Amino acid sequence: MNAVSKAKVAMYWAGSCGGCDISLLEIGPHLLELVAAADVVFWPCAADFKYHHVASYPDGYIDLCLFNGSVRNSEQERMARLLRQKSKTLVAYGACAISGGIPALANLATPEELFARSYTDCPSVDNPGGVLPRTETESLVGELEIPHFYPQVLRLSDIVEVDYLIPGCPPQATRVWEVCQAFLGGALPARAHEQLAGCTDKSVCDECTLEKRLVKISGFRRHHEAIPEPGWCLLEQGFVCLGAATRSGCGALCTKVNMPCRGCYGPSGEARDQGAAFIGALGSLLNAELEARAGELIDQIVDPAGTFYRFTMSDGDLKGHR
Ligand code: SF4
Ligand code: SF4
Repeated sequence: MNAVSKAKVAMYWAGSCGGCDISLLEIGPHLLELVAAADVVFWPCAADFKYHHVASYPDGYIDLCLFNGSVRNSEQERMARLLRQKSKTLVAYGACAISGGIPALANLATPEELFARSYTDCPSVDNPGGVLPRTETESLVGELEIPHFYPQVLRLSDIVEVDYLIPGCPPQATRVWEVCQAFLGGALPARAHEQLAGCTDKSVCDECTLEKRLVKISGFRRHHEAIPEPGWCLLEQGFVCLGAATRSGCGALCTKVNMPCRGCYGPSGEARDQGAAFIGALGSLLNAELEARAGELIDQIVDPAGTFYRFTMSDGDLKGHR
């Protein structure tokens, strides 16, 4: 990169909700600085780029590719492989690309169950013939092909080598801009291996300003069932808050507005499995001397798998296995 050849950046949206694309827009006026310093050579959400444009680039042409979303079908895998080939630095951007994210909660069901729910069984579906999606369909204009649906939601790193991980659902704009600045200033080492960026080594609990009164948990409540007492640790009040097992970087955004941390920045510290780390921490926080009482308390947690692995179902030890 020199004064006459600007850096080339790309952003791609695979299996995700679109929030990651919006989080890049959230850097606001800094976007002007970004496009002044770099050419956007692929960003389907923002401009009319096609597959053949990317395919025509020389290998390694893209300096920085931000890939958001999980991989659930053959088209997403094809794009992941193409963008790896064309990019010097490939970033798994956001929880879905890193660890499956919310879409990976579907790993708790089989493809057959998912199709039945989506296309036949759901009360709002009107499909008397029970028609299901097919990868090949004859039409008046010839054979149409749609992507193959995979048995599980995969991480980007299940498909290709990844250089950086920017966590969050979505990553917070201030952190995103810091990473962009590091990239533009040449402060990102080229092709590290799954190096975290846009976060810290601490946990959300470390950043949270709510008071810990060292009170043991006597029962669990969901957020719609009670209003938390302001200023007091939500977990101690019985609202499941994953702050202790979640890496920081967001500035404890949710707890600032009295909402429990859902864990979107992934596991903190050395923990590989965020759900297991949280369950381990929870064991010492329950107001239960007998195992039976601890069991009663844990039974109050609705949807434990979806709560403890909300963003990491493709990543944890469970890996979606029931
Ligand atoms: S458990 Fe949640 S509410 Fe309590 S200190 Fe940690 S982040 Fe804050
Ligand atoms: S507090 Fe937790 S859920 Fe909220 S943004 Fe931060 S890491 Fe994500």
